Amino acid sequence: MSKQRAKLVVGNWKMHGRLAENAVLLEAVARGAGELPESVRVGVCVPGLYLAQAQALLDGSRVVWGVQDVSAFTQGAYTGEVAAPMAVDFDASLAIVGHSERRAYHRESSELVAVKAQRVLEAGLTPIVCVGETLEERNAGETEQVVGAQLDAVLAKLSPQEAVRIVVAYEPVWAIGSGKSATAQQAQDVHAFLRARLVAKSVAAADVPLLYGGSVKPGNAEELFRQPDIDGGLIGGASLKDQDFLAICKAAGAVSVTQ
Ligand code: PEP
Repeated sequence: MSKQRAKLVVGNWKMHGRLAENAVLLEAVARGAGELPESVRVGVCVPGLYLAQAQALLDGSRVVWGVQDVSAFTQGAYTGEVAAPMAVDFDASLAIVGHSERRAYHRESSELVAVKAQRVLEAGLTPIVCVGETLEERNAGETEQVVGAQLDAVLAKLSPQEAVRIVVAYEPVWAIGSGKSATAQQAQDVHAFLRARLVAKSVAAADVPLLYGGSVKPGNAEELFRQPDIDGGLIGGASLKDQDFLAICKAAGAVSVTQ
């Protein structure tokens, strides 16, 4: 088995969790992460209201925390929105932008996602920029065109120096929450394409972690993470179960080395 570079595994809790169950989950993840090899970095993106809880329970652990979206604005009359600097107040370090659920249910365009990525970077956080095609787009042979355009929209707003501070998550829409992951080869092919696209835009692509997301489970994680262009995972459903999430993190550890 070939050893590869460091991996990043991030949980996306989506709109799940309440104080009591969060505490159990966060404490278990913090404890388990302490036993992982140094070559694995772990994060959780919680509903914004629970950032203070994540900070209280994860501070001093190996686990970093963040939010699942931010406003495209820094402050102002935008009822219901949460700005990136607000997450910084709770020592967050990650912010997902452009998740397919936000693109679909909140009609977020790639241009809006790009502005959000800028706000996240300005605040000093790491944006996890999600890209991914629908099943119809894949079946029509449009995967590269779709994910390429989604990535380009973000890169168009960033300097190469800013672009190396992002994380990209390839999440095929048809694999999210469906129980049907992309095969390791399907995911690797798209990751290689995204890496090449970063290079074409003069970004030091080796420094940009490319995560795969979409029905990652303990049983398929290692094969996915073994692919040369898959630098870790964005984990939805399985991040709500401490044992599953930690097993996925361990799988990342099994195929990674400290850089
Ligand atoms: C996600 O929503 O980011 C995700 C990858 O979900 P799941 O792991 O449940 O498919």
